Amino acid sequence: MTDVIPAPAQARLAVRGGGTFPVRRVYCVGRNFADHAREMGAAVAASKATRGQPVFFMKPADALVTGEVVHYPPATADLHHEVELVVALGRDAPPGILDREQAAQLVFGYGVGLDLTRRDLQSAAKQAGLPWDTGKAFDESAPVSELVPAAAIGELAPRRLSLAVNGEERQAGLLSDLVWDVPDILHELSRLNALRAGDLVFMGTPAGVAALHPGDTCEARLDDAIMLRCRIAAARVP
Ligand code: MN
Repeated sequence: MTDVIPAPAQARLAVRGGGTFPVRRVYCVGRNFADHAREMGAAVAASKATRGQPVFFMKPADALVTGEVVHYPPATADLHHEVELVVALGRDAPPGILDREQAAQLVFGYGVGLDLTRRDLQSAAKQAGLPWDTGKAFDESAPVSELVPAAAIGELAPRRLSLAVNGEERQAGLLSDLVWDVPDILHELSRLNALRAGDLVFMGTPAGVAALHPGDTCEARLDDAIMLRCRIAAARVP
């Protein structure tokens, strides 16, 4: 059978060393650094023993931005940055709930990204007990760096994630402070969905989230290992 419309473009990320990574789904984790959970007013415990269940939400794959320009989104007066580690899965998960070792084997590599958030819409949704989609899952809401193969990054825990806006550091956190580390999150996700090659996971943000405005420049880093640069451009009609 013939497609009755042109096939939508496949979202892809560049890979350091060559090639591209086609993206299937974009999962996101909320409240994964205790200091950010506190600044958002959540009564979350930082200890692994008392952490409960992670918060998951999604962004559409076509919300990814791989160029340097991100347009200020419509329908908000409070666009926030959230710098995050991005995990890219290179294999389909085996059937069943993943243990930590199985989870680690799925990882292709890492990037850094911004979970851009229409905070005013998200806050209104939270207060009304409604889903977060309008606050989180909008066009151009997910700038992401190139992906770096996992072997080139090595151990994640000592790595420092940071974001500077207009040259001034706004957010920073050590990955050892993640409430749920990467295998933990893949284990939890595997209870909910079949994980597949091409899936991305935004791992949550440390404290310091704040507003972005047209003209701002962002530089997100995982140490000197991975960097994302982008600039917020004036709004355009959706
Ligand atoms: Mn986030």
